[in-house]
Amino acid sequence: MIVITSTDFDQHVTPPGHPERPERAHVFDAVAAEWRDKGGRLLQPRAVTREELERVHDSAYLDRIAASDGQAVMLDPDTFTSPDSFHVAQLAAGAAVQAAAHALDENEPAFALVRPPGHHAERDRAMGFCLYNNVAVAAAAMLHRGLQRIAVVDIDVHHGNGTQWIFYDDPRVLYVSTHQYPFYPGTGAADEIGTGKGKGFTVNVPMEAGCDDGDYGLVYGAIVEPVVDEFAPELLIVSAGFDAHERDPLASMRLTTSGYGKIVAGLRDVAGRHGALALVTEGGYDLSALAACLETSFGILSGKEPHAAEAAVAAPGRSPVRGQRGVAAARTSLKPFWRGI
Ligand SMILES: [Zn+2]
Repeated sequence: MIVITSTDFDQHVTPPGHPERPERAHVFDAVAAEWRDKGGRLLQPRAVTREELERVHDSAYLDRIAASDGQAVMLDPDTFTSPDSFHVAQLAAGAAVQAAAHALDENEPAFALVRPPGHHAERDRAMGFCLYNNVAVAAAAMLHRGLQRIAVVDIDVHHGNGTQWIFYDDPRVLYVSTHQYPFYPGTGAADEIGTGKGKGFTVNVPMEAGCDDGDYGLVYGAIVEPVVDEFAPELLIVSAGFDAHERDPLASMRLTTSGYGKIVAGLRDVAGRHGALALVTEGGYDLSALAACLETSFGILSGKEPHAAEAAVAAPGRSPVRGQRGVAAARTSLKPFWRGI
């Protein structure tokens, strides 16, 4: 595995009290330094190009973001720039493209640790702390290289509305999301399944507040992994948000660090059966949980197996009813498209 990150990611400054804060970049710096000290490899990101951005964002929108260079601007009630945000956002999207390209070229997982996050950014608007849709830009770059099947699995606790809409009619990009629902940003119902040729290639598993490792394990085993397996992606990109963690201040899920580890291990195994694996950070607002989840993920992507102990404590004999309801909702909408569910 290789880690792609930059110490510049703390230069995107949000207003005081904002959860998507520069200190998140210091967590990236710390886990990357530890990774390097253990002999792991690090890569510096490059800035994304205008051509790469234009594959998923409107030109007028890109002009608006570019015009914020050097200024503090409110783009959306939750989304702000500081003077260096334009530069930092270009690095974030560039790192995502590099992670995807590296995973394909070198046949090893690549993990881009970036901020601002990307999955709420739509074609023509910033939203939910996101400026450019980093993962969508990376997927579009790899389509441009000639790939025909790219899966994006979004493990962030929020639904990735931006990624969903950008590829909603495109059967070459499978978008799969597990997210707290109903919740911000309001999209992600099970019956949002894509349109036109893309019908069936958007897979939403809405999950009730309070889901734990058992619920998530059920959903990933019954829906996410079988669908991705059947799709057989040449590249799997993970929108790696860690805000479904039990310690996260924004959401109400109860995933442990070990539960997140099992999700990452499952996705590593599915990707390994078909193609390459790249991961790009999204949310995750408890700094210690973010650090722990990244460290655990690095171990798993380097071949370690997840620990079983924590999950046993999390759900002693409890049946995963919330997970079962999520699975049932996804099956109702998607069974005609996927034999494996
Ligand atoms: Zn999130």
